[in-house]
Amino acid sequence: MTEKNTPFPSASLLGYPRIGRRRELKKAVEAYWAGTIDAAALDAAAKDIQLTIAKRLQVLGLTEAAAVPGTFSYYDQVLDTTAHLGAVPARFGKLLNAEGQLDLDGYFTLARGNKEQQPLEMTKWFDTNYHYLVPELGPETEFTLASTAKVDEFAYALANGIETRPYIVGPVTYLLLSKASDDAPAGFAPLSRLEDILPVYVRLLEKLAAAGAGWVQLDEPALVVDQDTPAAEIEAAVARAYEVLTAAATRPQILVSTPYGTLDNQLGTLAATNIDALHIDVFKGGVPSEAALAGLGNKTLVAGVVDGHNIWRNDLAASAAKLDALKGAAGRIAVSTSTSTQHVPHDVVEETQLPEQLRSWLAFSDQKAVEVKTLASYLADPASAKAAIDEATAVIASRATAEGVRRADVRARTEALTAADFTRAEYGVRAAAQEEALHLPPLPTTTIGSFPQTSEIRSARARNTKGELSDEQYQQLMKDEIKRVVDLQEELGYDVLVHGEPERNDMVQYFAENLEGFDVTVHGWVQSYGSRCTRPSILWGDVTRSAPITVEWAKYAQSLTSKPMKGMLTGPVTVLAWSFVRDDQPLAETANQVGLALRDEIADLEAAGIKVIQVDEPALRELLPLRKADHADYLKWSVDSFRLATAGAKDATQIHTHLCYSEFGVIIDAIDGLDADVTSIEAARSRMEVVHDLESHGFGRGVGPGVYDIHSPRVPGEQEVTELLSTAVKHVPSRQLWVNPDCGLKTRGYAETEESLRNLVKATRTVRAEL
Ligand code: GLN
Ligand code: ZN
Repeated sequence: MTEKNTPFPSASLLGYPRIGRRRELKKAVEAYWAGTIDAAALDAAAKDIQLTIAKRLQVLGLTEAAAVPGTFSYYDQVLDTTAHLGAVPARFGKLLNAEGQLDLDGYFTLARGNKEQQPLEMTKWFDTNYHYLVPELGPETEFTLASTAKVDEFAYALANGIETRPYIVGPVTYLLLSKASDDAPAGFAPLSRLEDILPVYVRLLEKLAAAGAGWVQLDEPALVVDQDTPAAEIEAAVARAYEVLTAAATRPQILVSTPYGTLDNQLGTLAATNIDALHIDVFKGGVPSEAALAGLGNKTLVAGVVDGHNIWRNDLAASAAKLDALKGAAGRIAVSTSTSTQHVPHDVVEETQLPEQLRSWLAFSDQKAVEVKTLASYLADPASAKAAIDEATAVIASRATAEGVRRADVRARTEALTAADFTRAEYGVRAAAQEEALHLPPLPTTTIGSFPQTSEIRSARARNTKGELSDEQYQQLMKDEIKRVVDLQEELGYDVLVHGEPERNDMVQYFAENLEGFDVTVHGWVQSYGSRCTRPSILWGDVTRSAPITVEWAKYAQSLTSKPMKGMLTGPVTVLAWSFVRDDQPLAETANQVGLALRDEIADLEAAGIKVIQVDEPALRELLPLRKADHADYLKWSVDSFRLATAGAKDATQIHTHLCYSEFGVIIDAIDGLDADVTSIEAARSRMEVVHDLESHGFGRGVGPGVYDIHSPRVPGEQEVTELLSTAVKHVPSRQLWVNPDCGLKTRGYAETEESLRNLVKATRTVRAEL
């Protein structure tokens, strides 16, 4: 039974960034981890951030009860849900305290691991660059309400005069995102634990109601994804879950949110439950059919018309039209964002360095709050929003014709492309030419690109930005660093060298700063995971390269050694995925523009004497659409853009690519389709499992399954690497095999890196001797 019957707020955000405008939470949490502030100080900082956000959203117009989303998190919203369910994997031993609660230290242990235990695995949240911690469940996992953080946060805001809307991941999504723990029997499905987690949700709902919450938000984005679990099973789980939750003795009214795509059939399933409001993503998805909407009865339909995942100003006229269509078919309508705005920065107004015109095209979280408010007032009284809608229409029109958005020279080039531009000579021909040019030993050793980014390097860059270090001084320091990295690899005995990437702040931003069509922000940080944030660049116009970018650095590095030096570039899909990418043309078009810029860079690298060039595509998997029907189209254009970038290379130039993960699964054909001469992939954490996929697929070109897990400070022993390599040679012909770490070394320290890299070479020598 619901205690309060306040209507769902006419305007709200689905979620909001929680790191703070100046990354205050990051700083506080990291200080706590480092032991420089205590728990009380961390708690005070967290409260301050929550209240500042709530007040800010009220100032922006989200004043109705439950309009401010309670999406604060110390680390991750999925981990928060794990904490509330007490779902601590048995391998962590007894992590709950005497009161049966998971305190903050226990919570951080799950996130960061301890001496004995690896942390929970991390993986991407839907099609975003946000990473969540994967719950590990087994048949024995016990569930109890082991945290009341959500209740306490709500109570604190309420005591300060603001009724927020607590957020938690919904039960079906929680279980679909979970993985079976290592000790679970084969075939165990986390969804089979539904009945056991529901009572804990019910207790949480009762506590929230007792604290005065009028609304709670249960997030069910897994329902917009094609899952491996049969749809009928998911439908049954949804029906059962919300039957139990809505029958709680006392509870807030329930909003179920379904961001990141179209609900399709699950809309009917949710409509048939007794929930009080349903959010759907009508930015990415379309307006559902009248019949589907009619099923909602008297539930409030929360229309996510404003994009929460990208930074472009909303086409308010188009959104108003969608709202009109929805209004005709559904009962009460409220306005919101398609997803949480946790994926976009706080406030465009802070980016004073951006050109005025570009700024006018953008909407960050705070601007989105105002857009939502405007659209809600449109629903109440269309005339009241007319001026704002007209202004948005005019600004969007100005964007279409602004200088640099569509360039004739760029368009002429992409329009003239033919199949030949995407195709290299047959692999056998290339392999022979490369053998001739490179003379590599069997099992060649290499690294993925970056070497440790020391505090000296970062501070030199900061001082250069502030003008305290001249460009010449900065460049000299970077050259010194490159020399040190090259000398180290020579001393260790590596076969194909890298320059270490010290001059790059970030593998995408570096290129964005050196290509036309991009701009970068100063305060535009978004959370990537935990306390880690990235600052995506803005890709707003047609992309071209006005001058070589990496050539001088590569040439210098090559001059220091007689071994081949790898040129190092970031691929088109990754540039798109890790930027805020323009939304006014198909991604395929933008990807090809980036591909052509890289193609020019590769030609210049070749001319400068570089014989091996790596084009990183760690984001290839990330942009894979959530619906299977959309996979083929995506895989076609993404693979094509890589081929366009690389197919101009000479036969004798060895093209490498690097992917950060080993879940080959659905994309192995695409990876093969990249037609790179050598592909390096993650394999250490998954104990070389990937070689089975390579074998059964018949992968025929060079491949470097990583033998050193660089995501942890742990040094892999010589014996361990020897074993991994011995496994690999059993499944992959040795002439195809390369030896390398899992990923770049930029987050590691020098001591552990040196020792690890040394062990890789020793192990390689042992395995080579046995070939
Ligand atoms: N070349 C990059 C590096 O080594 C690759 C990073 C990545 O895959 N994320 O840092
Ligand atoms: Zn990587």
